[in-house]
Amino acid sequence: MCYPRYLVKGRSTLFDPIELARVTESIVCKHVNGRQLRKYDDFYVVWVYGGIATGYAVGCNLRCYFCWSYISRDFPERYGTYYSPEEVVASLRRLVIEHGVDKVRISGGEPTISRDHLLQVLELVEQIPEIKLFLLETNGVLLGYDESYVRELAQFRKILVRVSLKAGTPEKFSERTGAKPEYFELPFKAIKHLLRHGIPVYVAAMTDPRLMSGEERLELMRRLAEVDPDLVKNLEEESVEPYETTLMRLEAAEVDIPWESLES
Ligand code: SF4
Repeated sequence: MCYPRYLVKGRSTLFDPIELARVTESIVCKHVNGRQLRKYDDFYVVWVYGGIATGYAVGCNLRCYFCWSYISRDFPERYGTYYSPEEVVASLRRLVIEHGVDKVRISGGEPTISRDHLLQVLELVEQIPEIKLFLLETNGVLLGYDESYVRELAQFRKILVRVSLKAGTPEKFSERTGAKPEYFELPFKAIKHLLRHGIPVYVAAMTDPRLMSGEERLELMRRLAEVDPDLVKNLEEESVEPYETTLMRLEAAEVDIPWESLES
């Protein structure tokens, strides 16, 4: 496949996000002595969720035009440093101790792309008493595609999964992420798989009214309620923030956001 970068209005071709995950994994991961190393941009504590030590992984299998991730998302071959699972957990543990927090996560890109790496990180996290919770933030595409992946995650006790929805209809999913519309259902399937396997899960959705109509928002809620009405009650609704990378991606996709409207 021709590797997709940020979406450019009228020029981007819709892609298969499963195939893109495979190609991205071949760029951002390598196996060394039975361990899977993955590229990261950085590690630091962010003061959300009461403080959480965060590793910023390189590479994603969607191309959301509102994404705030580093530019490494679009050019993963140019950015990042390979870290083994041991190095990742050591970096997170150091941050946890230095800053007095007890939660960790992998953010930035899509953590599920590197399955072996993620599972190896989770195994190690289970053994670190200072880490009480691992927040898995995911777009849900790979967890919806392959239930056996979710089954493997179910063995870990410290995991909490946050599935982030991008749209309420297949057409809008494609428009905002660059993925083909038939993959729209996968994040909903991921949520079903997670619930079936008893993994704690909650849902976030990019329902910013500057991007999503009220009608589409209701459709998203309706689909979520079909999975479990409690998910709607606890839904985290996200807004677009004017990060430098977000502004660049919005401009390339020719999406005009009235920033001042939320301040007034
Ligand atoms: S918003 Fe999340 S799923 Fe979308 S491109 Fe960025 S990292 Fe990937």
